[in-house]
Amino acid sequence: MTALETFEKTALLGQTIEDLESFAKSLGEPAYRGRQIADWIYRRGAAAFEEMSDLPKRFRERLGSEAPVGTAQVAYRQTSGDGTVKFLLELADGERIETVYLPYEDRASVCVSSQAGCPMACDFCATGKSGYRRNLAAGEIVDQVLCAQRFSGRRIDHVVFMGMGEPLLNLPNLLKSIRLLNREVGIAQRQIAVSTVGLIPAIRELAREKLRITLAVSLHSPEDSVRARLMPAAKKYPVTSLVRAAAEYAEQTGRRVTYEYTLLKGINDTPEQARLLARLLKGAVCAVNLIPFNPIGPGGDYARPDGSRIARFRLELEEAGIAVTQRAERGRDIAAACGQLRRRMETEHVSQPSDGPA
Ligand code: SAH
Repeated sequence: MTALETFEKTALLGQTIEDLESFAKSLGEPAYRGRQIADWIYRRGAAAFEEMSDLPKRFRERLGSEAPVGTAQVAYRQTSGDGTVKFLLELADGERIETVYLPYEDRASVCVSSQAGCPMACDFCATGKSGYRRNLAAGEIVDQVLCAQRFSGRRIDHVVFMGMGEPLLNLPNLLKSIRLLNREVGIAQRQIAVSTVGLIPAIRELAREKLRITLAVSLHSPEDSVRARLMPAAKKYPVTSLVRAAAEYAEQTGRRVTYEYTLLKGINDTPEQARLLARLLKGAVCAVNLIPFNPIGPGGDYARPDGSRIARFRLELEEAGIAVTQRAERGRDIAAACGQLRRRMETEHVSQPSDGPA
């Protein structure tokens, strides 16, 4: 059995209420005990059976020998001056993934990983540079949100699939995790966003689920040649087809699509590219989210454009009537960009980040 299958077979995290009811019955207990377990793990964020104080002690002990809850270990934790917290979580098989907690005045957001590593190999991305390990189980995805909630003491109300991995390559577990987050953890579908490199067949499959979640498409250039250079996955899907698939998604779900655009100095930040982008997106129900490149450290060939260049790019889009947002800079002091922390730990042998081992 693979590590993923083992987790799915044994851990309680990732199971639906119905699964947990059957599990309780299989142990000779009434079905409502299963609902109590679900309440503890998904609503109250219990990481251990001892915490489940309204279950009989004998049953809790039995549970401990039957199945793990499935929570990951926090291997490292770093807190930024702005309150952003980056977790490096160690899974049952030793794989390490990143989760970022982003507190705002009016909401609390978590950026989750969907895979350990990523096979998409985008040239500017730290995760893309460090290779692919495996898909995450639905429970391992949900656990990241619960971990941030437990640590912060704040209710999480937004989840973005913008951590490590390509979520649409892990579609069944992605869907399962979204349903659990929605039904059991209590996060509204419209507060969940899934970011993809742009895999058209999977975007169509996702649209058929008719979820009210936001689709974020990593565009990074309106030109096929530039996209292909930055993102090998783009070679398969022409940008015009991608924008069409995204428009179909918007139509079928009633949700506006977000295009992510990581600005890389001298590569995709020219006024000419902005004009081409505006032309490509003319009339689309969408918004463009500009993300100034977050340098990934040793071996990186890219740079962030300066402020005036970013402002010029933005203005060009706005004048063409495109809705533009700019990602607020968060956690820059703690390597909060995708895959940066894990990569830094591997390449620089950092043993004691600011907060140290959790
Ligand atoms: N596989 C998904 C999720 C990736 S992470 C996808 O491709 O969309 C979320 C976003 O951050 C993507 O748009 C990704 O291209 C971008 N990104 C990755 N590394 C970055 C960096 N160092 N600086 C800025 N944006 C980055």
